[in-house]
Amino acid sequence: MTSITASNASSASSAGTGVLTGTPVVPGVALGPVVTVTSEVPADVVQAYEARDPASPDDALATYDEAVGVVADSLVARSSNASGAASEVLVATANLVKDKGLRKAVKKRLDAGEPLLGALRGAVEQFATLFTQMGGLMAERVTDLHDIERRLTARIVGAPEPGLSTPDEPSVLVAEDLAPADTAGLDPAFVVALVTEQGGPTSHTAIIARQLGIPCVVGVHGATGLAPGTRVLVDGATGAVETEVDEADAAERVRKDQEWRAHLDAWSGPAATKDGTTVKVMANVADGASAEKAVAYPVEGVGLFRTELCFLDSSEEPSVEEQSEVYAAVLRPFADGRTVVVRTLDAGSDKPIAYATPKGEENPALGIRGLRLSFDNPGLLDRQIEGIALAAEKTGSSPWVMAPMVATVEEAETFAGRVRKHGLTVGVMVEIPSAALLAEQILEVVDFMSIGTNDLTQYSMAADRMSAGLAHLTDPWQPAVLRLIAMTAAAGKKHGKPVGVCGEAAADPALATVLVGMGITSLSMAPNAVRAVGAQLGATSDEACTRAAEVALAASDPHEARAAVRAVLDA
Ligand code: PEP
Ligand code: MG
Repeated sequence: MTSITASNASSASSAGTGVLTGTPVVPGVALGPVVTVTSEVPADVVQAYEARDPASPDDALATYDEAVGVVADSLVARSSNASGAASEVLVATANLVKDKGLRKAVKKRLDAGEPLLGALRGAVEQFATLFTQMGGLMAERVTDLHDIERRLTARIVGAPEPGLSTPDEPSVLVAEDLAPADTAGLDPAFVVALVTEQGGPTSHTAIIARQLGIPCVVGVHGATGLAPGTRVLVDGATGAVETEVDEADAAERVRKDQEWRAHLDAWSGPAATKDGTTVKVMANVADGASAEKAVAYPVEGVGLFRTELCFLDSSEEPSVEEQSEVYAAVLRPFADGRTVVVRTLDAGSDKPIAYATPKGEENPALGIRGLRLSFDNPGLLDRQIEGIALAAEKTGSSPWVMAPMVATVEEAETFAGRVRKHGLTVGVMVEIPSAALLAEQILEVVDFMSIGTNDLTQYSMAADRMSAGLAHLTDPWQPAVLRLIAMTAAAGKKHGKPVGVCGEAAADPALATVLVGMGITSLSMAPNAVRAVGAQLGATSDEACTRAAEVALAASDPHEARAAVRAVLDA
């Protein structure tokens, strides 16, 4: 049974213009025929089934149970061919199919006289509403619920199971958006690129594509209109999906890209531009285990240790001694003289911590999170700084300490006083536009700044960083965000103090050249991104970095900025 439709025939693009564009997520160039994920069960088959239903409630429940068994078994079988997170996603979806609560809700509706498909639809809606109200991770499972509804419906009416099965030749997968169960089963040998109509850089599709290293473009308007089998060239660096492909030219571009990727694998640091201007390329880590992994990469230290991630499951504040052990586990692998930047608790909003985050805030992203936790509870911050100082002593290292969510000069000054009492280097994050606007004054009272582009973008554009529907706004290439970064970098140059970037923007090789051109001195990112960034900087002259910054700042939108920078880098 295959639910992917691909034909070998090369058909004309349905786009007409020859190029569709979206938000680039994972760089890389790939060529292949379009395969589409069938997400809907054919309406005529459903109607025909509904016309011949009604079965008795007991018979209908037996049909439901049979469908549950088959769909769950198929997901479990796929999970045994997958590994890690992918396998876990498939098992979790299989468990949701077999959920007793869902069965009970279906049965209740059947007993009340509803036909089977209506009962299934109603029960799924009931759970989807509940999950949405619960918010957070439960809300994210609504996609899984709708996915299993389609799979069960298909089985009940006798249609092929919707979703993704492995194509028989290397193909470009095009979808509205991908269900977690679909992305989990992706085989990079057969799916050479991902293109989705919906979703943003933080969508599930984007995260899995990054993990697997599959070139990916999201938010491509018109993508699902492409006829299956159309040969397309996907450029995950520019966001272009070319639908009128010159085969020879495309093959040459793919070859060059593969050559470049092989070059990336060989990059071993330290980072510098082609002219030798040094840039610190560093790792973002979450705990001791991730620090142990990061140290194997060519990084010059840790540019962001998100301490709150160590305490997400703690119901009570750990003692200073306990905290020092947690921090020492991150400092130790880098205690050979490399810098580790420890960020104090950024609890709140999307990362609530039981013992620190206030309950029941109307709007937690704009509420008491990050440094603001210390306004009413200064002891919480002081004990954390003490724990960091103790860890420094235990490991013989000199961590830098920075505060998240700083808005004013006074906040920066108070924080600096607390950290300097322990003889440590102190800095603040630039995540709130006011901190960028006040960078010159703030740098008078701290030793360094680190720009958190994820939140800086969210707060500059007033767009929730998790909202797929606002992905075009939560893009660090937005000119307003670039100007705030440039302003902060200029303040750093004026004071002769380091200004780094530790948000996702640092992991984008083209954007990295822009940031360095503005005067950013360090870039901190997920370790698997360092080679691409380091290699790009090594291939770019100082003059090209400066020019890249100029053209990006002069652009009026992210698309124009990316294209202008690409032209500078290609030249
Ligand atoms: C940021 O906001 O860019 C940042 C690095 O912090 P976090 O992603 O942890 O909010
Ligand atoms: Mg942040």
